[in-house]
Amino acid sequence: MAKSNLNPLKPKSVLCVAAHPDDLEFGVAGSVAKWTSQGANVYYLILTNGNKGSDDRSLTSDQLRDTRRKEQRAAAKILGVKEVYFCNYEDGLLEPTASVKRDVVRIIRKTKPDTLYCMDPTMVYALNGFGINHSDHRAVGQAALDAVYPLARDYLSFPELAKDEKLEPHKVATVLMANFDKQNFHINIF
Ligand SMILES: [Zn+2]
Repeated sequence: MAKSNLNPLKPKSVLCVAAHPDDLEFGVAGSVAKWTSQGANVYYLILTNGNKGSDDRSLTSDQLRDTRRKEQRAAAKILGVKEVYFCNYEDGLLEPTASVKRDVVRIIRKTKPDTLYCMDPTMVYALNGFGINHSDHRAVGQAALDAVYPLARDYLSFPELAKDEKLEPHKVATVLMANFDKQNFHINIF
């Protein structure tokens, strides 16, 4: 890995892509607060319905999904996030399929971020106490990277997005990936 640094990244528009409503709170929320305070437009895309991550047996999956979405919107509002987009893929079973990639491409082309945040799909586990990385996190990372390059860039990838939804190709300049064991880039949020 390259030497760690405190690069003064100052994005104008950021798309944060995650699997579950809470991933971005522990992954990137401090940086989001900094970016929005600098005037950046920040958007969230949550790919699963988040309807599995609780051991409270009094909750149904639908109740859990609705509660977590409400919490996600509230948390995003505190940080000044402009919009939270939700997809409805089943929690725990996400795969980087063409359908998932098309949904990420759609939001990239809609929000036109210069910077995209996701999790490093190569992080299967972390040795620093975090343990096994959720397979949905890896799937999101893979789908997001594939969406950035080449799918969001090329007019002929998912041509229906341009034809039917008027979503033109977009190039993302910077990708930030969270990896709990290996870091070569830090943002000073204080
Ligand atoms: Zn998660």
